Parts: sequence; C-alpha cells; structure tokens
Amino acid sequence: MPRYSITTFGCQMNVHDSERMHDVLRCAGYTEAGSADEADVLVLNTCSVREKAEQKLRSEVGRLARWKRERADRVLVVAGCVAQQEGERLLKQMRAIDVVVGPDNIPELPGLLGDLAIGGLPIARTVFDLDAPRFLVASPPSPSSSPRAAPTAFVTVMKGCDERCSFCIVPHTRGPERYRPSDEIVAEIAALVAAGTREVTLLGQTVNSYRDPLGALPRAPGASADDPDESEFAALLRRVAADVPGLARLRYTSPHPRHLTPSLVLAHAELPVLPRHVHMPVQSGSDRVLRRMIRRYTRAEYVARTRALVEAVPGLTLSTDIIVGFPGETEDDFAATLSLVREVGFKGLFGFKYSRRPHTPALKLPDDVPEGVKGERLARLFEESEALLAAHLSALVGTTQQVLVEGRDKERGHGGAGGALWSGRTGRHEIAHIDGAGELDLLGEVVEVSITRANKHSLQAELTEAARAAARPRQRGGGLDARPGRRSLPVVAAEGG
Ligand code: SAM
Repeated sequence: MPRYSITTFGCQMNVHDSERMHDVLRCAGYTEAGSADEADVLVLNTCSVREKAEQKLRSEVGRLARWKRERADRVLVVAGCVAQQEGERLLKQMRAIDVVVGPDNIPELPGLLGDLAIGGLPIARTVFDLDAPRFLVASPPSPSSSPRAAPTAFVTVMKGCDERCSFCIVPHTRGPERYRPSDEIVAEIAALVAAGTREVTLLGQTVNSYRDPLGALPRAPGASADDPDESEFAALLRRVAADVPGLARLRYTSPHPRHLTPSLVLAHAELPVLPRHVHMPVQSGSDRVLRRMIRRYTRAEYVARTRALVEAVPGLTLSTDIIVGFPGETEDDFAATLSLVREVGFKGLFGFKYSRRPHTPALKLPDDVPEGVKGERLARLFEESEALLAAHLSALVGTTQQVLVEGRDKERGHGGAGGALWSGRTGRHEIAHIDGAGELDLLGEVVEVSITRANKHSLQAELTEAARAAARPRQRGGGLDARPGRRSLPVVAAEGG
C-alpha cells in the first residue's frame, strides 16, 4: 500500500483541509507514513497569506528535491493557497513538483495520483467548485467505537471571501463566498458530539457572514431586515445550540467586525454554549489606515460593536489580528493602533508585519514603511499586548474556572513527578495546565479548577475537591497512550488566522 505524509503550513483552515486530505487518501487505500522519509507521496499544504509563508514552501521544495531523486516513484504534491495562487506556474518553476491541487480539488487527489502512477504528466488542478460547492466531512468514530472522537473539532460552515481588504490574498486563493446548508452543519456536529466531541469551532474566512443557501433558518431575534451587514450567523448559532444539546462549547473563527450585528450580540447574551471569548480581527486603530485597507468599518464602529458584546456578556474577552507597517502608516497611525489595543483591552493578539501579496489591491500602494520600522512597531505592539495579558492572567489567580480538558500537557508529558499533567482551555480560551491529576481520566471533561499561578501565556491550576471526587480514575492498561486526541499533524507554521 502506498504511504503518504502531509506537512501543513498556515491557518486553521489549512489544518482542517489537511485532515480532509488524510481522510481522502486513507479512503483511497493509502496509509500514513511514520515520517516523510518513509513516504511515497509527500503533500505540502501551503499558505500564502504572508510572503514569509510562501517563501517557506519554496525552500521546502528545494530541500525535497533530494528526497525525490532518491526514488523515481516518489511523488511531491503541493496543495493549499500557494497551489491555488500559482497553479501550472509552480510545475514550470519547480521541477520536483508532480501535482498541484487547490483547496476545492482535494477529492480529486487520489485520481490525479492514479494518473501519475500509470505514466501521466505532472498536473495542476485548481478549479473553484462554484456551481456545486463541496464541503468535505470527516467521518467521526461511531458512538460505541474506541478511540472516541477528539474533544475539540472544526466544522466548516462557509468558504471563500467576498470582502476586498486591500492587503489580503484570500479572495484570490479561496474564491467567492459559498455557504453550507445548515442541515448538513448540524448533522456533522451532532455526529461529532455523539462520538465524544465536546467543543466545535465553526470555520469560515468571514464566518459570521453565513447565510443558509437553502433558506432553512428562521430570522434570529434582533436581526434587522434593513441592515446590509446582517447575516444568518446568529440564526445558525441558535439552531446548533437547540439541535445539539450535548455540545459543551461552540466557538467560531474568523469573524469580520462588520457582521458583529445586534443579532449576534443577543445570541452571545442568550446562548450559554457560546464561550466568553471572541477573536475579532481589527487590523488597525487608525481610521485613515482602515480606509486604505478597505475594512469597511471605522475605529469608533469597531469599539461600539465590541463594547456592546462585552456589555451583553460580562467578563467576555476579545483577541485580535493587527497588521503593522501597512503602506503609508505613520507614527500617529501606529499610536492610534496602540491606543485602540489599550482601549479595547485585548487579551490576545496576533501581530503581523505587512507584506505585499500578489493579486491584492494594496500592490498599487508603495510599501514605504521600512522593514526596521515594521519590526520595531511589532515589538512595541507585542509589549503592549503582553502587559495586558499578564495583568489579566494574574487577576485570575485564586478564582475557579471551568476547563475543557483537551489532552496531556505537551510541555511536561506524562510520567512526571505529579503523574500526567492535563491541559485544556477555560471558557474564555485561556490555556490551563492541571497539576496533580495524573491518576484521573479527564480527557474531554469540563472540570472545575482553581487557578494557582499565572504563567506568561497560560494558567496553572488544580482540580477543586468536588471535581476530583467526580472524576473517573484512569483505567488499568488503558494508559494515556490509548486515549484519543486530536490527530497530530505536522504543523510547520501556525501564523494565526
Ligand atoms: N478573515 C480574516 C479577517 O477578518 O481579516 C482574515 C484571516 S487571515 C488568513 C489572518 C490574518 O493575516 C489577517 O487577519 C491579517 O491580520 C493577516 N494578514 C493578511 N494579509 C496580510 C498581509 N498581506 N500582510 C500581513 N498580514 C496579513
């Protein structure tokens, strides 16, 4: 049986696409190789949101040319956003590549590999499925099977992007917005929950612009027919909450501030399944820059909308994405970004230096902020956000929190002094490491903990007495290694978003 290996670059969308590629290849009779060296087929699932990510692909292919030369029948596949962006050109530029496959063409991968095996030429397949959008679904383990499904899972609700942010390549690499029927979304989540999943993150490039293509959702409370920014996302959240009562947490990423409408705020206020944390990319705190970025909101609108959310859900925290050094960004513009970070009080922040991307409107603007200034602004931005996070985490010491246990602590592993150390996330998305619970089976449980210490980016915690009394002991022979977890994919670069 041919063996494959997948290396993933980029965002959660790419991680999700890689999981679907695993499924497609396994269904076609391929088995996963222990390492790239053992693989007959190597897939690089690529990201092109920033130039650095694209450069990584090019150096990786250069490195893999030797891997290919070692055996004539080895196949190198490039998938994802760079594949979609470059198509046939990649085959001409880099002779080591055999197959280029776009995100919408993943189901065709086994067929393309089959053609190659019988002597076909290198091929690029990068066609958007505009007429009949396909949303690939993982088949979760059945409720009675072992191992159980992972405690957390991603479910795609839409793909593509109709925004025209001037810096962003996504509309080019992922095409126009296409939405998945709510019936399908609910069915996938229900199957995951029946198999053991506790938390689902709804995925989409602008996830909260969602509309049911079959018109199967009633208007959500608070939704205005006259508001052009209104979508059916709040109605989708309400339907998932009502139809899948066993779901513990329902997150989503990445939303656009434009669609943070009163109906979505009301859904957050009324649905306990929505955790008290939202990631809401703002990109800049300067109206002049926001206009040039074509973000379609002002700083005041962003502040007003997020404030409404925080007022509706006390204690809700926000995180964000920010680009520094966008063309024409002055020191005053950047100062406005820093003041916005303080004003909103973000508890998490992905910061990026602006990089010119092909096919984007901002190419017409000179990239006039020197690299050194971009680096210095990014450092100041991180300094600001780290201080906010540190103060927030310190204030949580001594409080009780509900943590969804996602797996073993990656830093200390099991078998340490206190036995296994579990880790998970609070309802607000803070990472919590749980000490002294190695003898218990906490995977997939929402447990009550008291916070004992604040680390730089996470919390240290202990089970409360009540949680300890209610927890299951680990089964003899069942060991941690027999526990399921999220399939570990070799994620090379997770660059936020
Ligand atoms: N849906 C998200 C949004 O609302 O903008 C886009 C997600 S994008 C894949 C992740 C982040 O990458 C963006 O939020 C933005 O901060 C950053 N990004 C996108 N294009 C960029 C560019 N040309 N240079 C630097 N950062 C960029």
